[in-house]
Amino acid sequence: MELTLSIIKPDGVRRNLVGKIFSQIEESGLRIAATRMIHLSRREAEQFYAVHKERPFYGELVESMTTGPVVVSVLEGANAIARYRDLMGATDPKKAAAGTIRATHAVSIGENTVHGSDAVDTAKHEVGFFFAGTEIVNRAK
Ligand code: GDP
Repeated sequence: MELTLSIIKPDGVRRNLVGKIFSQIEESGLRIAATRMIHLSRREAEQFYAVHKERPFYGELVESMTTGPVVVSVLEGANAIARYRDLMGATDPKKAAAGTIRATHAVSIGENTVHGSDAVDTAKHEVGFFFAGTEIVNRAK
């Protein structure tokens, strides 16, 4: 069983899409093992996206992640990292496959509704970033 970090970004929370996105996650067979709603500070958003510091969109990304609350969740399943990336769809919603979360809900590449970890090491880091010291209460038996 693998764990991955999901974030429903402010554009998704603002447009009341939390339930719909949770349904897509659960219907895909992934399990919501832990979840909570938080409003990221600028510093937290900067730290979380530090790998993108040199990218031209970094400022815009940090700004958009702090415009309202987000829902951070730990998802569990066999190959959860790759399966959630598939379910999210391509970064640019115009390129996302039909039926994916981003094809269904995203507004633009900047407001693309969800984040998901992209590899085993980043998943470990990102789950720790938001859930260190928190019990992952809903693991599969
Ligand atoms: P992801 O793993 O699919 O989320 O994509 P990346 O790791 O490449 O980028 C992280 C996030 O930065 C994306 O989800 C987008 O919200 C944002 N982003 C990436 N490329 C662009 C861009 O060209 N313009 C803007 N405004 N945001 C971008």
